[in-house]
Amino acid sequence: MSLFLGKMCERIPGHKSATDHESILDIMPTKEVYIPLVAGNNTNFEILVNEGDQVYIGTKLAQTKTGFNVPIYSSVSGTYTGQTKRMHSSLRPQNHMVIQIDHKQTAIQAFEPIQYENASAEELLEFTKNSGLVGLGGAGFPTYVKYLKPEGIHTILINAVECEPYITADYKLVMNDPKHLIDGAKIMKKMANAQHAYICIKKNHPDMIDIVKQAAQGSDIEVKEVPNVYPMGWERVLVREVMKKEYDKLPSEAGVIVNNAGTAIELARMMEYGEAIANKIVTVSGEAVKRPINVRVPVGMPVKEIFEQTGFNTDSVRLMAGGPMMGKVIPNDMFVIDRAMNALTILPGTVDDAIACLRCGSCSDHCPAGLQPVRIANAVKEGNLEEMERRQAMSCIECGLCTYICPSHIEVTENVRKAKRALALQKKK
Ligand code: SF4
Ligand code: SF4
Repeated sequence: MSLFLGKMCERIPGHKSATDHESILDIMPTKEVYIPLVAGNNTNFEILVNEGDQVYIGTKLAQTKTGFNVPIYSSVSGTYTGQTKRMHSSLRPQNHMVIQIDHKQTAIQAFEPIQYENASAEELLEFTKNSGLVGLGGAGFPTYVKYLKPEGIHTILINAVECEPYITADYKLVMNDPKHLIDGAKIMKKMANAQHAYICIKKNHPDMIDIVKQAAQGSDIEVKEVPNVYPMGWERVLVREVMKKEYDKLPSEAGVIVNNAGTAIELARMMEYGEAIANKIVTVSGEAVKRPINVRVPVGMPVKEIFEQTGFNTDSVRLMAGGPMMGKVIPNDMFVIDRAMNALTILPGTVDDAIACLRCGSCSDHCPAGLQPVRIANAVKEGNLEEMERRQAMSCIECGLCTYICPSHIEVTENVRKAKRALALQKKK
């Protein structure tokens, strides 16, 4: 049942060589950035600047009013001109703060730097909370929340696996800055009062393993080599592989906190320099891209402009925010790069190419969560919430395998996502 244990894992081509050794291209928007007022599911923000205000890289722009504490800082210098509603990569229209760029890129210190070696676990947690750092591997969950109750945590896993095809953004980050990766691991270990911290890297990245091992020399941070299979980067699979443990809802049940490598690097940089997240490295790749590339862009950069400036044509393709497996198909390029996004994947063909289900059962055979995606998709079509629940749609990890494997080119994962949304809505009611 599990692809992780099955033979199909070897058949998913990585396509990493298209971008992993190319240099990163810096791109700036010509006029404006649009900073999404979104933190996970929370869109309730207090705006801390007035229209017409001059802002700098690092100016605190907004702050969540409810739920977890997530401040948002400016990624550019310029003038705040107000809010607008735009399509967000979550496929919903969301409020965005518009900053007209002055092209000076003047930065201010967003917060006082802190020496992690001398700081207490409480001070590190307080810093992380005020930094606005969210999981940069795609989930966008506030990082500090994982460290609020560190009792029982013995191990930190830094996830540098990046198992999705095409994406090399984390690879580039780690290869360019292994020192801050190790610092980030040390900070996280100290913040959780954990005994161990492991950097998890796929075996087929010997260059990355070497560079990280060198940077870790003399420290208590270790490298764990993991198999090159999909979805090895999924938390549950990583915990199973490295710790030989299973858990029900959260890795903390197994005494583990998992953080993405980019998140660890960013946290260490923030503490050293007092800088908020301003830029993102984004892999622009996929079968329909002639010149795949990694770009460094400010948070809030319109995707349309990335394509215009790299000369890419988005007609008759499938555009995905994220990788081809876990990313979301987006109907157009009107969304922006947010803090958690690390890839834009462009595949040939459109969603209209799908044909009827062949009832081949492949999606069920290869689902690593042991689900029957086609049955969940059918329940969505029928609007049958009971059946969606009975088929345990909420256990889907959105790995994208059912879509990848489907010979009929059906967006099976998208249908399972719809089921999850419908069940979540029902629960809310
Ligand atoms: S996306 Fe969900 S339903 Fe589809 S294979 Fe992955 S876990 Fe299973
Ligand atoms: S893989 Fe596609 S064609 Fe096969 S059963 Fe699943 S949805 Fe139907």
